[in-house]
This record gives sequence, structure tokens and C-alpha cells, in this order.
Amino acid sequence: MQKTPFSNFKKLVSKAETISIVTHVNPDGDAMGSSLGLYHYLKTKGKNVKVIVPNAFPDFLAWMPASKQAMVFEGNEETVKKQINKSDVVFILDFNNYKRIDVLGELIRNSTSKKVVIDHHQKPDTVFDYYFHDENASSTSELIYDFVCGIDSKKAVDKKMANCLYTGIMTDTGSFRFASTTQKTFQVAAALIEAGAQNAAIYASVNDDYTENRLKLLGYCIYEKLVFIPEYKAAYMALSEAELKKFGFKKGDTEGIVNYALSVSGIELSAFFSEKEGAIRISFRSKNKFDVNKFARAHFSGGGHINAAGAKSDLSLKDTVDKFIKLLPQYKAELFKK
Ligand code: MN
Repeated sequence: MQKTPFSNFKKLVSKAETISIVTHVNPDGDAMGSSLGLYHYLKTKGKNVKVIVPNAFPDFLAWMPASKQAMVFEGNEETVKKQINKSDVVFILDFNNYKRIDVLGELIRNSTSKKVVIDHHQKPDTVFDYYFHDENASSTSELIYDFVCGIDSKKAVDKKMANCLYTGIMTDTGSFRFASTTQKTFQVAAALIEAGAQNAAIYASVNDDYTENRLKLLGYCIYEKLVFIPEYKAAYMALSEAELKKFGFKKGDTEGIVNYALSVSGIELSAFFSEKEGAIRISFRSKNKFDVNKFARAHFSGGGHINAAGAKSDLSLKDTVDKFIKLLPQYKAELFKK
């Protein structure tokens, strides 16, 4: 846990006029929820504030209030550069390493703004100016709630903020079922509902928004592509670009598919490989003790949390899967640890 005192944040925010909020590549519910939640707060304080995303966010998050004002770096590089360069403060939400956002990270690093990390991922880089970091928090959205209460008050959390932050907490905790869900998480969720978050409507907006293609892709993955390796308590699915195309793949369509293998008793590790624009993206999920953050960092230049991590590979789809399978024997003891 690494936290700059609230008094310093209070001063920083009150002095700042132009503020940018940046989140990670392939923004998920927590990335968008925390960014837009903070955006709405700073707006009420009269700040000139913009949310910047490295690339587009999925359609099932487009209902979130003010999502349309978010600037997408990919394709608008010059406009975003200007915004970063005139910012007094840049908030870095739901990630903690410039490398994660490549060129955009370099722009921020080279700007004169004060850089603030608010995040719950492990091992934040030490190059930033201010930190509000807690790897035991369920989500960055939960931290934004604490942050706003800390520099202002509970009353500052309005309905728009509450809807955004609730979305982030709900999505990052798998609807309050992952081990990261604590008493505190429920307390914050309750406070957000009290502040006007429409919990049932949010659940429906996020989860009941599949296209026919997306549901059929999920069925295809489970029926045709899921491979179990019980001797290592592992399972994986690998999808080629052509397969994705067959189901009219749209951003976000493969989100969450990696989790299904873990619903099988005895499976501790699940991997999902997909070929997108020639590169291989990987999601790892685990149950219990197996640390996929460590695994992804060590072998696939990725990272994340103990039970959820992302990574990539420059090898072909087949070679990436082979590499994964060949790594399993050396992790057998860890996979079987109780
Ligand atoms: Mn998160």
C-alpha cells in the first residue's frame, strides 16, 4: 500500500485547472468506471478535464455517463498530445507502468504535468509523483470512492459518479464473487447505491448486451476449442483471426471467456489465446494460490494480479500455445499446492 496524504492531493487538485485522466489499453469496466467517476467529480469542481483512452472501449460500456467525451489516442494522436501537454495533472488509473500504453506513456512521461497513480495492480513503477495505490482494493473504482471521500466528502459522490464507480467495482469483482471482494467492497457498493447507483440496471447494461454473434462465439469456444490438461489442472482455448472473423468479432466479444474453464472442478489455471491484428493476446486466470501475474511476467511479458493477468506473444498462435503447454510441468507443484 502506497498512499500520498490526502492533504497533498487536496492541494494538488485545488490548484490544477486542466486535468487529464488516462487509463490502460483495451479499457475494461473498471478502467472506464474509475476514469469517468473521477471525471464527474472533477467536473463538479469546475476543472477542465478530459478522459483519454489508448484505444476504443467496448460498446457495452458506452451507456456510461460522459463516455462520449473520452478521447481515443489511436487515430487522434495530435489532439491528445496537445491535451497532455497543457495538463497540470495527469491521473493514471487502473495501471501503473508507462510501458503498458507505449507512445502515449512516453508523451505523459515527457510532459511537465504532475503524475498521479490510482491503482490496485501489483508493483507500481516508482517514477510517478503521487500515489494512491492499494493492491488489496477490489478495483480502482473502489479506490476512487475513497479518494473523493478523502479529499472532499461522501456527499460529493453524486448519481453519475455512483453509476460509474459501481460499474467498475461490479465488473472487476466478477459481480462481487472474486476473492478480492471484501467487507469494504460491499460497504462502498452500498454507499454507491445510496448515492443513486442503479445496480440492477447496471448489471443488465453490462451483461445482457451480447450480440447473437458474441453468444455463438462463446458457445463455439466452449464446445469446440476448450482443451483440458487435467494432469496440470490447466485448460486453454486458442482462437485464430479467421475464427474470430467468422463470428464477426467486435472489441469486447472475447471478454470473460477465459473464466469458463475455471468453473470445472479441479481446474486451477485457464489461458485464453487470441490472434488479433497478427499479434497474440493472452489472458490468464487462476483459482486459489497459483500466481498468474508471476507466470505472465516471467514468460509472456505481461502481468496483472495473482488470479488474473494479461500478456502478449510475438510467436505464432500455435507456437505460443506450445510454449504454454511446455511450461506447465515446471509449475506442477505450484498448481497442486493446497
Ligand atoms: Mn481494475
